[in-house]
Amino acid sequence: MRKTALDCIGDTPLVALALARGLGAPVLAKCEHLNPGGSIKDRIAKAIVLDAEERGLLRPGMTLIEATAGNTGVGLAIVAALRGYRLVCVMPEKMSVDKRRSLTALGARVVITPNAPPSSADNFQQVARRLAQENGWYLTDQFKNPANVAVHERSTGREILEQTGGRVGAFVVGAGTGGTLSGVGRCLRASVPGVKIILADPVGSSLADWVEHGSLCPSAAYAVEGIGSSEPPANLHRDVIDGVERISDEESFSTARRLIREEGLLVGGSAGTNVAAALRVAARGDVAGPVVTILPDAWDRYRSCAWMLAEG
Ligand code: PMP
Repeated sequence: MRKTALDCIGDTPLVALALARGLGAPVLAKCEHLNPGGSIKDRIAKAIVLDAEERGLLRPGMTLIEATAGNTGVGLAIVAALRGYRLVCVMPEKMSVDKRRSLTALGARVVITPNAPPSSADNFQQVARRLAQENGWYLTDQFKNPANVAVHERSTGREILEQTGGRVGAFVVGAGTGGTLSGVGRCLRASVPGVKIILADPVGSSLADWVEHGSLCPSAAYAVEGIGSSEPPANLHRDVIDGVERISDEESFSTARRLIREEGLLVGGSAGTNVAAALRVAARGDVAGPVVTILPDAWDRYRSCAWMLAEG
């Protein structure tokens, strides 16, 4: 059978990190940056569109719209090209110029919004919802769509179980939509007794406080892209989370540079957040098996960012 780019999504390698040498447990990182669109979001783009097709919600030539930090947009652009749809991406202005350019190069229309909290009418999610209603476009709705969590449960989580032979001490990851954490968390909890599911959250995000206390603290600015929020998204399921690690921008970016320079893993900033948190969990030595984490996206979308070229 001839394959298309859609068939190359998923089944990513799981690599052991040299950075974890000498710690209490190995750290294993899933190379989601090696997906065709360069990120883990290819999985949900494909799953959401195929799910909507199955439910009879899409017609050929229809326009898809999504609020995206960039990666879901790239995944959707690939799926839209292969399945015959148009695509509009609504993106907050904080996201890198590289991501904007990639989406434009892929043929998507890009709408930029101010960096506004979810409750504001200018927020990228609200703008996408409004444009969908006004124009009759299909909102793929990654922050709420249950197909997001479901695909991580049946693909990302299942692959991790197979690649580790079911031996996982902890799973550590940041949350943008929460799809990865909720889906993989649900899958591992069902199959691995005692596994710990840990949220890696940027300092400045409110999600860690929400997990620990059920309430939201005031959020502050941070530079790492794609994870953290001032309000919990619907796809982030608090009941699967056992604990949190808070990671500063500085630690995220220095860890991402080490992944690039010492491990040859050509990843973006949120991989640094995830791995920094996973290293902390491994160093505590209280987990009963390897610590598994995710490398969500590739470095090419951050080439214009100062952190990529910094020393140390
Ligand atoms: N890292 C990056 C760079 C992302 O774009 C995203 C998705 N917004 C994530 C991590 C988080 O993934 P999820 O949406 O599954 O929580």
